[in-house]
Amino acid sequence: MSLPSRASFADIRLYSPSKLKCSVDLSDNTNLFGMPPAAERALREATASLASRYPTGYAPDLRQAVAAYTGMEPAQVTTGCGSDDVIDSALRAFLEPGDALAFQEPTFVMVPYLSKVNALRALPVPLRPDYDIDVDGLLATRAKLIYVCTPNNPTGTVIPRASMERLVDNASGVVLIDEAYAEFARESFLDLARTRPNVLVTRTLSKAFGLAGMRVGYAVGHATLVTEVEKARGPYKVTGLSERLAAVALTQDVEWMKARAAESLAIRARLEAELGKLGLEPLPSEGNFVLVPLAGAPAVAERMRQRDVNVRAFQGLTGIGDALRIGCGPWTMMEAALGALREALP
Ligand code: PMP
Repeated sequence: MSLPSRASFADIRLYSPSKLKCSVDLSDNTNLFGMPPAAERALREATASLASRYPTGYAPDLRQAVAAYTGMEPAQVTTGCGSDDVIDSALRAFLEPGDALAFQEPTFVMVPYLSKVNALRALPVPLRPDYDIDVDGLLATRAKLIYVCTPNNPTGTVIPRASMERLVDNASGVVLIDEAYAEFARESFLDLARTRPNVLVTRTLSKAFGLAGMRVGYAVGHATLVTEVEKARGPYKVTGLSERLAAVALTQDVEWMKARAAESLAIRARLEAELGKLGLEPLPSEGNFVLVPLAGAPAVAERMRQRDVNVRAFQGLTGIGDALRIGCGPWTMMEAALGALREALP
């Protein structure tokens, strides 16, 4: 018996980042300083009804907290089960199967994945040699949705404001700006979500806010766009506990988050200097991670894992080649990573 399956799923592999048990895991760019303190108190005080009852359909308390944090109106906010879910919902909201989805390349690996899941035509547009986006190349696709990411995963590089404004002002459809790492960067494009009707900015509680396990992401933009994304997303995607902890973190843990983010950046500068001493040249990053071009990176990462340190390896990135991506956490973790790297280099 042949079971039904979608043709567009044929070459999809399940997303499987390496999660070998290593004492030092720098592979996923999360906050490695633990969870925010007010959210932790809320976790301890959580009651059983949060588990036994359904949550609200569209997480109004979280929406309110995101609105206050981002300076938007609640009607301009949608939330989801991680920003993966919000991005996926936006693709379904604005694109039909067969439609084009344009994005910078390389970028967040879930984007080409979600493109396949939603039977879209992926149109990757390589970054320029200076890591800026190719605005004309992206616009020439005439895609109904253009995804861009700043600071970009995995490069850590940012998109200059002039390029971003030219992109959103000339795009024929929606521009989705993924700001998963905004809290680490010098500049945010939230203002474009406020002033341009075709811009959605997605963000997450998984990175600077240290709540990756709660799976909370959000998007802000024009209320009309937001409503379409909510339709695609459907109700009950954020659990009551996740809503509670995320809302507390966004209102009471902002100072904690900012201090940890600043610490990550100082550690990143130290890490960059140490990598330089090894003859390695990380890309200019504004995230809490660095991308280090290195021929044979997958084999190096494997040898680092044998030394109990997990970093993310990439093979043949467009315009970059093989590379290691190293997340920044407490300096003791960086020392462990540098020690493992020195031994693992060919
Ligand atoms: N966007 C980017 C650029 C990311 O790096 C990630 C996490 N790796 C996400 C979105 C998704 O994060 P989450 O689903 O945890 O919100």
